[in-house]
Amino acid sequence: MTAVPTSDAMRDRYAVIGNPVAHSKSPQIHAEFARQTGQDIVYEALFAPPDGFRDAVRAFRAAGGKGLNVTLPFKGEAWQAADRREGFAARAAAVNTLVFTQGLATGHNTDGLGLVRDLCDNLGCVLRGKRILLLGAGGASRGVIEPLLREAPRQLVIANRTLAKAVDLVGRFEALQPLAQEGVIAYPYAELAGRRFDLVINATSASLGNVLPPLPEGVFAPDALAYDMVYGADTPFLRFAREQGAAATDGIGMLVEQAAESFCIWRGVRPATAPVIALMKQARR
Ligand code: NAP
Repeated sequence: MTAVPTSDAMRDRYAVIGNPVAHSKSPQIHAEFARQTGQDIVYEALFAPPDGFRDAVRAFRAAGGKGLNVTLPFKGEAWQAADRREGFAARAAAVNTLVFTQGLATGHNTDGLGLVRDLCDNLGCVLRGKRILLLGAGGASRGVIEPLLREAPRQLVIANRTLAKAVDLVGRFEALQPLAQEGVIAYPYAELAGRRFDLVINATSASLGNVLPPLPEGVFAPDALAYDMVYGADTPFLRFAREQGAAATDGIGMLVEQAAESFCIWRGVRPATAPVIALMKQARR
């Protein structure tokens, strides 16, 4: 399908808002989705200063903006700013997708669906009955907990440098504890020694600073998968995982899958993700 080009002013406008945001692959991904589905939209990257999220959103809406993807560090603020929250966003207290309709801002969280689709549909993982270790307790981690639990793992352990934040998350998702046979548990990194996991997800921002979270050796069970949400680089976490005998993958598939879900919420059409994931992987070679 080929869209008839119109001037930018006439197109529906979308953007990813963050700080930093210049590195974001979202504009490229959404441009591919729009081309593939014949949707004539504009999608940009929008930088906001640390205390300027609400002002930037207000200005974007005033200029006719239809929706935003929200990235680091504004997912919590987006949740607060939303007039209503749908689906996984409600419990997560983190919003990565905003829809502006009829004067209302509706918040969604598509990160978890994106992660689970990449793990299960693209990488062939079965999460049911598995021991999962989730590193980090920030916006990304909050967004993926419920979708992971809905896959009925055996256990979900959340480890964070600041333990209180992981403990807080366990409390926030307490009602969903029965979904995991052995529950949801918060541990400091030091407590991970001697424990083994089938899937270790790095939802920290440590990789952005080229740093390995303080993981002890031996956390990977035989045939374990290490998943770094950071994408596009061979991170210390991925290298450590491979040295420990685990399979290792970055978060490009999650990025494309969560974007597809956002695109579907905004435009009512689901783009095919496989060709876009292939394209993104090819582009970094
Ligand atoms: P965030 O809210 O700022 O949280 C950062 C987390 O990382 C916190 O738990 C923090 O621990 C931890 N951390 C930072 N440096 C660390 C270090 N050196 N060692 C151990 N822990 C460290 O960020 P976020 O929104 O959750 O995003 C996290 C990462 O996920 C980012 O790199 C983002 O790009 C990526 N992400 C990718 C996708 C995707 O689609 N692929 C989607 C969402 C997010 P403390 O609490 O102790 O400070």
